[in-house]
Amino acid sequence: MAAQRTDTSVEVIPGSAQLQTEGTSSQKRKQKRVPWMSPTRFRWISQIAFMIVFIGIGCQFYFFVRYCESGGTTPYFSRPPGIEACLPIGAFMSLKYFLGMGKVDPIHPAGFIIFASILLTSFLFQRGFCSWICPVGTISEWAWRLGDWIKSKFNKTVRYWVEMFPVKLTCGLSMITTPIIALMILDVINFSSFKSLYVISHTLFYVMLSFIGIALIAPFVLPKKIWPARLEDSIARAWKYSIFAFFAVSILIKMPAQQLEVIFTRSPYMKVADVMMLNFFRNLSLLAIIVLSLLFLFSILNKNYWCRYFCPYGAIIGLLGWASVFRIVRDSKTCIDCGKCTKACPVLIEVDKKKIVYSQECWACYDCVEVCPVSGALDMKIVGIGKKVHYAVYAGLVVGLFVVFMNTARFTGVWYNNVSLDEYMYRISEVDDPKYKHKQGKFEIE
Ligand code: SF4
Ligand code: SF4
Repeated sequence: MAAQRTDTSVEVIPGSAQLQTEGTSSQKRKQKRVPWMSPTRFRWISQIAFMIVFIGIGCQFYFFVRYCESGGTTPYFSRPPGIEACLPIGAFMSLKYFLGMGKVDPIHPAGFIIFASILLTSFLFQRGFCSWICPVGTISEWAWRLGDWIKSKFNKTVRYWVEMFPVKLTCGLSMITTPIIALMILDVINFSSFKSLYVISHTLFYVMLSFIGIALIAPFVLPKKIWPARLEDSIARAWKYSIFAFFAVSILIKMPAQQLEVIFTRSPYMKVADVMMLNFFRNLSLLAIIVLSLLFLFSILNKNYWCRYFCPYGAIIGLLGWASVFRIVRDSKTCIDCGKCTKACPVLIEVDKKKIVYSQECWACYDCVEVCPVSGALDMKIVGIGKKVHYAVYAGLVVGLFVVFMNTARFTGVWYNNVSLDEYMYRISEVDDPKYKHKQGKFEIE
């Protein structure tokens, strides 16, 4: 590995069809040919295609619900099963049901199929789902690209604080929430503990409030020497893993599969969970508007904010992706240590310091490969056999498996639930009834 970073590195000129060479003390290195169709452009095509499908599904579902609400007087649209992808907790429950009972969730089978295909693609091809398919990942990426353009107008200090404010705040909040979630997972406390704490001991309650204050202020005032940015980032990311661990333990481990059988077949809430989710977005509370606006603003200011710090799907996908043999591999013999790969990486991996990128944050976007000026210095490879994987082949594998999996379910009939249109119509007409609510995961059974 070359020891020095050379800032005299070769500039990559988009559209250049010339093959050039760069002399070094030890050997000649080939500069890469950069064709018009780059990995980024190819990825954007995939993202836009899935975004269009996602928006189409959302609109179709809205008109289906309108049809049911109007008692059949508005134009009829069939219910798109793909909408079940928006029920992540339901997907965890379906997974447990499948593992425990060997059956597919009868109410949200498409949600289970989509979740299972995400897990499978991640296990085989690491986090490609996030950067090539996921509409939330797409919004997140376009938000930070807009943010990068806005921030380029600021000076260095303002840019630093604008970028770091969301991370510091998230780090402070994570120091409060992560231990609480951990204690809840271990059954030491539950939701009502906070009320009883105030009643039992005012002193303890105020000690806790003081800790909250310190946790929120510390990331902003502690010097970098004792509070490095990497530590801050790791603490902030712990939140995502604690949310995932909470659902994994309370659903995958603690919830009996037989109980899920009852919930799926006899819970009114489950039958209309997708409608409730739509109604949540149709009647956003002030708090929800504030939270969603902040998440979007922070996604503009900080790269992949939602995916990096909150998405529980991202947590499980990243963990499963560790098993994948598809890895970004750097050849230290040809690498000229220009650092362009690290600068381009949207998930802040120090690619130029790795031989093989084993980070669970790598979402296989190929941005680092695209900017690398030296042919063969950085590629996606199949570890073990060292075979280079072209981005189009990688996209074909990730998107192909995802689409094939879903269409197989569609053609075999597993994709569709057993709730009739008549049942949807009467349930949607009474959806405000208390039996369609649930409290802290407790469902009414009929
Ligand atoms: S290491 Fe490369 S492929 Fe992985 S996220 Fe960073 S830029 Fe994308
Ligand atoms: S691997 Fe990274 S540091 Fe090495 S030449 Fe490519 S872009 Fe530069």
